[in-house]
Amino acid sequence: MKSFLFLSVILLMFSCNGKKEPVKTIISAPVRDPHSFARPEEAVAKHLTLAINVDFKRKEISGRASWKIRNISGGNQIVFDNSGLYIARITLGREEKETTFELGDSVKFLGRALKVNIRPETDQVNIYYTTGKDAAALQWLEPQQTSGKKNPYLFTQSESIAARSWIPCQDSPGIRFTYDAQVTVPSQLLALMSAENPKAKNPQGIYQFRQKHAIPAYLLALAVGDITFRPVDQRTGIYAEPQLLGKAAHEFADLGKMVHAAEGLYGPYRWGRYDLLILPPSFPFGGMENPNLSFITPTIIAGDRSLVSIICHELAHSWSGNLVTNATWNDFWLNEGFTNYFERRIDELLYGREEAEMQEEFGKQALLAAVKEMGPGHKDTRLKADYTGRSADDGTNDIAYEKGYFFLKTIEHFTGRDRFDRFLRDYFDSHAFQSVSTEDFVSYLNTNLISGDTDLAGKINVREWVYGTGIPGNIVYPDGLWNDGKGKFAVIQRMAAEYAANRLRDPAALKEEVKSSNEKRFFISQLPGTLTSTQMAGLDTVFGFTRSHNTDIQLAWYLLAIRKGYSQADPNIRDYLIGNGRMWHIIPLYKAMMNTPAGLKKARDIYKAARPNYHPMTYKAIDAFLL
Ligand SMILES: [Zn+2]
Repeated sequence: MKSFLFLSVILLMFSCNGKKEPVKTIISAPVRDPHSFARPEEAVAKHLTLAINVDFKRKEISGRASWKIRNISGGNQIVFDNSGLYIARITLGREEKETTFELGDSVKFLGRALKVNIRPETDQVNIYYTTGKDAAALQWLEPQQTSGKKNPYLFTQSESIAARSWIPCQDSPGIRFTYDAQVTVPSQLLALMSAENPKAKNPQGIYQFRQKHAIPAYLLALAVGDITFRPVDQRTGIYAEPQLLGKAAHEFADLGKMVHAAEGLYGPYRWGRYDLLILPPSFPFGGMENPNLSFITPTIIAGDRSLVSIICHELAHSWSGNLVTNATWNDFWLNEGFTNYFERRIDELLYGREEAEMQEEFGKQALLAAVKEMGPGHKDTRLKADYTGRSADDGTNDIAYEKGYFFLKTIEHFTGRDRFDRFLRDYFDSHAFQSVSTEDFVSYLNTNLISGDTDLAGKINVREWVYGTGIPGNIVYPDGLWNDGKGKFAVIQRMAAEYAANRLRDPAALKEEVKSSNEKRFFISQLPGTLTSTQMAGLDTVFGFTRSHNTDIQLAWYLLAIRKGYSQADPNIRDYLIGNGRMWHIIPLYKAMMNTPAGLKKARDIYKAARPNYHPMTYKAIDAFLL
C-alpha cells in the first residue's frame, strides 16, 4: 500500500520581464502516497480509454477501462486501486490476451489493491468491470430529487480517493494521465465529463470525450441527466437542468470576466473551455473543480450574485490543483491554500478590495475556530499533514484552506505583492501539469524567492508555518475593515454589541450600516451570547434573516437560532436541511441541535426526512454522529 514517486524537474524558462533566466533545478525526494496501493515507480498508467454504459435501472456503470501503461521496472505486475468494483476479466495489449489478477486484502478507507499480472513488454491493460452497490463516487438520483422531476440523474465526486470506486485506476494525485471516453446513456439524457464536452443531446445517447492534458484520477468526473447548455461568451458557459438554466445564467453572468481576471494574474487558462455544471441540491460541496467543467451547488444561486466567490475558487483551481497538483493528500494545503489566495485575488479584481477583505475576515474566523477546536498544539494543525491510516478526506479542513491562505498572505506581506505575483506566475509555469509535494514547494520557495536573504527568511519563517502547529506569531490579518475602530467591520461589531445591550434606540438604523450579504453575515457572527429570542425576533423584523435565501446567512442565523432556542426559525431550518445537501452547510446545524435532548430528537426527526436527499458521503458522515 505504500508507493514512491520520483519527481525531478529541470526547466529553463522566461521570466515575466522577458529576460531569459534559468529557474533553479528541483530534484525532490521520493513522495510516498499512503492513500494508494499503486507502485508507479514500477509500472505506471499513462492514458485511459474508457468505454462504459450507464444503467440507471441497475444503478451500475459497466464497461472497459483500457490503460496504456509504462512498465518502468520491466516487472511482472502492475497495481491499481479498486474500491468495490467487480472485475470480470482482464486482458493485455490490443490483441486482448487474457491474463490473471488478484485482489489484495481489504484495507479500511483504501479498498483493495488490484494486482494484474503483466509481461515486461506489456503496454496496455484492459479491465472489464462493473461498479459495486455502494460506490462512494456515484450518486444516483431519483427523478423526484431533480428540478425537472421526470428523469433520473447521476453525478460523480472522485476527490479525494473515490475515483477507484467507479474506474479501476492508480488513484493517487501524484500520478497523471490523459483520457478519452465513450459513454452510453439513456437517449433522453446528456452525458458530460471533465473534458471537452458536447453542447446538446444526441438521439443515440452515445457521447465521446477527450481530455488531452494529464490529470490525476481525482479529477475524473461524469454527470448524466436532463441537462441543457447556454453560452456566457466564446469560451465559457453554463450547463444545468432546463428549469434552473435561466436563473443560473443570470447568477453567473460574470464567468467570462472571471477567467480574464485570473489570466491577468497567473498566466493563460490552459484547458480550452471553462464551463459550469449546476447540479441538483444533493451535491455535497460548494463546488468541485473538475477540469473544463466545475461542478457547482445550486444553493449558491441567491438571486443577487452574492455567493459567486465560490466560482472564483473553482476557477482558481484550474491553476492551483488542476495544473499544479498536491502530490499526496498530506500536501492538500498546496491545492486549497493557494486556491483560497487566488480566489480572493480574483474577487478583489472583480468586486473590489473590500469584498476580498470580507472573505479574508471570514477565513480568519474559520481558522481561529479550527485551531481552537483542535487545540493549538494538535499535529493536524500543521500545513504538512499526516493522514496515514486515516481517511484522506479528514484533511479537508480550515488548516489546509485558511492556514494555507494566511501563509501565502504573510509571504506576500513581507516580499511585496508584485514580487510575490511574479514568483507565483513562475511557479505555475514551471510546474504546469505536474504534481508537487510540500517539500518541493518549500525548496522552490527557498531557491527562487527567499534566495539566501536571511532577513526575509527570518521574517517569513517557513519552517514554523509548514511544520509547526497552531498559528504562527507573524501571521498578517486583514485590517482595512477595522482601521483602528473606524472601519466598516469595527462599526458593525459595535452596533451588534449595542443592539444586544438594548442601547440602540431605533433598530431600523442597523439597516443603514449592515447592507450587503457579507455585512449581514458578519453582523450575525458578532452578536454576543447574551442575545435573547425577543431580540432575535427584532432582527427578523428588520432584516428577515429567518426567511433569507442566502445560504451563508442562513447557516450563520440558524446556528444562532438553535443555540438560543429561537423556535420561530424551526420550520425554515427544517426546509433548509431537507432541501440542501451541501455537507459543511448542514453538518454544523445537526451538531448544534444535538446539544440538548429535545434538539437531538428534532435533529433525528428532520434527518429521517432529509437523508434520502443527501449524497452517500454526506449521510455517512452524519450517520456516524447522529444515529
Ligand atoms: Zn478548493
